[in-house]
Amino acid sequence: MQKALKLAKKAALRGEVPVGALVVSPEGEILSTGENLRETLTTPIGHAELLALHRASKKLGSWRLSDCNLYVTLEPCVMCAGALQQSRIGRVVYGATDPKGGAVESLYKILSDVRLNHQVQVTSGVLAKECGELLTEFFASRRADARAEKANKIYRRRSSVVVVHDKKILGFYGVDPTSQKKYFFIPGGKIDDGETPEETAVRECFEETGYRIRLFPESLVEKKYDFFWNGQSYACHTYFYLAVLDQDWHPPRPVKDAAYNVGSAWISKNDVAKTFSYDVHILAAIQKLLKRPLPKKT
Ligand SMILES: [Zn+2]
Repeated sequence: MQKALKLAKKAALRGEVPVGALVVSPEGEILSTGENLRETLTTPIGHAELLALHRASKKLGSWRLSDCNLYVTLEPCVMCAGALQQSRIGRVVYGATDPKGGAVESLYKILSDVRLNHQVQVTSGVLAKECGELLTEFFASRRADARAEKANKIYRRRSSVVVVHDKKILGFYGVDPTSQKKYFFIPGGKIDDGETPEETAVRECFEETGYRIRLFPESLVEKKYDFFWNGQSYACHTYFYLAVLDQDWHPPRPVKDAAYNVGSAWISKNDVAKTFSYDVHILAAIQKLLKRPLPKKT
């Protein structure tokens, strides 16, 4: 269990919920280890027990782990208890109980359910205090981080607009001064004092692309997200709108708006997903707006 605790601490260093597990052979040899990697591997099946079981099976060349023991710092969840039962493992030894999710004794008793074809021996409460404290400290620290982030984070209110014309949308190319990476942006910018988000969108569109637009205020889609630009992260609270041209169409003209603006362009609606793949939130807002029917001309 000391070894499992070490694995749990390793998980915590990665920002993972600290749970560690290992599988030991009937002869007492450590066959495999695992620590919770749900965030790192971005998978719901990244629990310590499942990773340890999987590796032990690979090593033995068999899914059947009869007579092996699994040590884990926290009472297994429904998923892991199910996998342990399936693996025909001999014994599970765990540390802290999990009143909110445990499936060995707290919420369910999967390992001892006689309706299933295999029951697993259970030893609980081994180094329970240490195992539990590790989790408590982890969650306390994570809550503190969240509070700090919330307190310091200042969302910049900005407004952006999706201008639609002839199955195309309007935007401009911008080059990040730090990374030199080229992006296609829809027109938009910071909401100035005394300005409504609608006014900002119309003004920015003219400044950045030279087109006058008619905006539909009721189309509003709001998003909060972080955008990385010029070497730093900006917390954005953006008001997105749908608009059409309020003038006859003309080819894009050069504008002198900002050094990073290297020219406006119209792109096909079919290219939206690819073009805005650099930010899921911006892409989602644009796609949502494009699904809306354009209001009838007045
Ligand atoms: Zn689990």
